[in-house]
Amino acid sequence: MKFKLQSLLFSLLVTGAITAQQRSGYWQQKVDYKMEVEMNVKNYQYDGEQELTYTNNSPDTLTKVFYHLFFNAFQPGSQMDARLQSIQDPDGRMVNNLGTRENPEFESRISKLNEDEIGYLKVKSLEQDGNKLKYETVGTILEVELHEALLPGEATTFEMEFEGQVPVQIRRSGRNNAEGVALSMTQWYPKLAEYDFEGWHADPYIGREFHGVWGDFDVKITIDKDYILGGTGYLQNPEEIGYGYQEEGQKVKRKGKKITWHFNAPNVHDFTWAADPDFIHDKLEAEDGTMLHFLYKDNDEIKENWKKLQPKTAELLAYYNEHIGPYPYDQYSVIQGGDGGMEYGMCTLITGERSYESLVGVTAHEFAHSWFQFILATNESQHEWMDEGFTTYISSLAENEILNKNNDNPLSGSYRGYNYLANSGQEQPLSTHADRYQTNMNYGIGAYSKGSVFLAQLGYVIGEENLAKTLKRYYQEWKFKHPTPNDFIRVAEKVSGAELSWYLNDWTRTTNTVDYSIKSVEAAGNGSEIVLERIGQMPMPIEVEITFTDGEKEEKTMMYIPLTMMHWEKENMENSGSWAWAYPTHTVKLYAAKENIKKIEIDPSGLMADVDRSNNVWEK
Ligand SMILES: [Zn+2]
Repeated sequence: MKFKLQSLLFSLLVTGAITAQQRSGYWQQKVDYKMEVEMNVKNYQYDGEQELTYTNNSPDTLTKVFYHLFFNAFQPGSQMDARLQSIQDPDGRMVNNLGTRENPEFESRISKLNEDEIGYLKVKSLEQDGNKLKYETVGTILEVELHEALLPGEATTFEMEFEGQVPVQIRRSGRNNAEGVALSMTQWYPKLAEYDFEGWHADPYIGREFHGVWGDFDVKITIDKDYILGGTGYLQNPEEIGYGYQEEGQKVKRKGKKITWHFNAPNVHDFTWAADPDFIHDKLEAEDGTMLHFLYKDNDEIKENWKKLQPKTAELLAYYNEHIGPYPYDQYSVIQGGDGGMEYGMCTLITGERSYESLVGVTAHEFAHSWFQFILATNESQHEWMDEGFTTYISSLAENEILNKNNDNPLSGSYRGYNYLANSGQEQPLSTHADRYQTNMNYGIGAYSKGSVFLAQLGYVIGEENLAKTLKRYYQEWKFKHPTPNDFIRVAEKVSGAELSWYLNDWTRTTNTVDYSIKSVEAAGNGSEIVLERIGQMPMPIEVEITFTDGEKEEKTMMYIPLTMMHWEKENMENSGSWAWAYPTHTVKLYAAKENIKKIEIDPSGLMADVDRSNNVWEK
């Protein structure tokens, strides 16, 4: 535990020195939050004070700032409500179906909220270094004019008083979720929007995910003393709290009707908590010293699964530590709450009334997000596929191992999903903003399935070993930062030596598809010629397996056709001449006579996401 803390500090200290390895001129803003809030568990309202020191590391002078007021989304007439009423396939958790399954008639649950059920965040006062500020609330965004411009390299302090109301649980956050967890406190405080090399990201809260500023959080939460909390950050006063947070044998004094939980979270970009009077709190110290916390309802039907989940979570941690990079915090909490599964700093909120396998599955996924999106903090609304896709990729591999599933291709479901979407005529490019997809289906299959196939297929393009090395180097170079798609592909290029901008471009910024076929197999002199055809627009290096027979014995050979524009080829493969994209066909000449060829198959591994495999096979 001690060692880990030191290594975190060390990584903070050397951050400046290693930036030369990354995008040149890389910078990121810094926040330092101090918050004190008092919760009223009867009417779900809370009062808060926030002191925020904001450091402008950008080369720009800032004259305004923006805060997110996420809870304002849970009000009739909000953009989230409007979107819910107009999208053809709304999230089932957010609507009531007044029709039938076949003929649904959806009603937005947000549209039905009463005044005492809505969510809100109201800013009561805001000052910059002691000067009152002009500000305006526009939906879920607070627009703030600075009193004094914030120059490059300078810091300023904002003092805010705010009040909030926790909405009825509709999406992610809220009171009394479907499993009776009292408080799921996510996106609950006024949160400064991120300003990065692309400018401000003051995105309204419509439905999709987040982007936040890196920094340190000091948070005090005062609440009735029978409530048990879990969340982001290390508890600073366990002797006043107990509930399993105290050291063994430590005496606990809970004074008064309400107690104050004091948390500290260094180097995070969000702060989440959940609370319930009936939480059971278990702890398990993992091999690497990380303390795993489990908070779940005292409900006999789920206890056994939640106990069995604990050693599996430790195995998941070990898997991600080994395959991506070391988990850098001292603690991680799996908390029953929310409405499915959602990732946060040092914790996740998941629903808990599930089968054992589903409970491990959702934990595998959400815990993997600690790397892909939390530590490697991509902008989730712009690069949703790096968040959900990379997470799906690594958690599918981890689950396959930890639950002994023994799938040859643990991503086969993702390939099927992508194939369905690509052939549906509905697909939109992955560069689409997460809120701007036509349907939830387009977002879901795009981000999760096509996003995970991005990595699985990259393993086919540059080889599994290079892919594994790429993930580790990506972690080393980009942890605690905001990597972009280009940052990732540059790491893959440096690791493999191949040119890969074409891959990033076609796969994530277009809906071009991969479709290669065997056009013809002909006798030519004593030998034969196979003509391959590129039907789809997307280029790919090709592997072709040929099965020869002399009537009795069979023999298989794998031919490899590098892609010219990669200026690179895989080692230890039989190279049959590279293929430049603009040529629609490529001819492979064989010494074997046509009658000795039994079968030819393009990509027998199935790792190339060919949208029409019916033309990939030729048989005698
Ligand atoms: Zn996810």
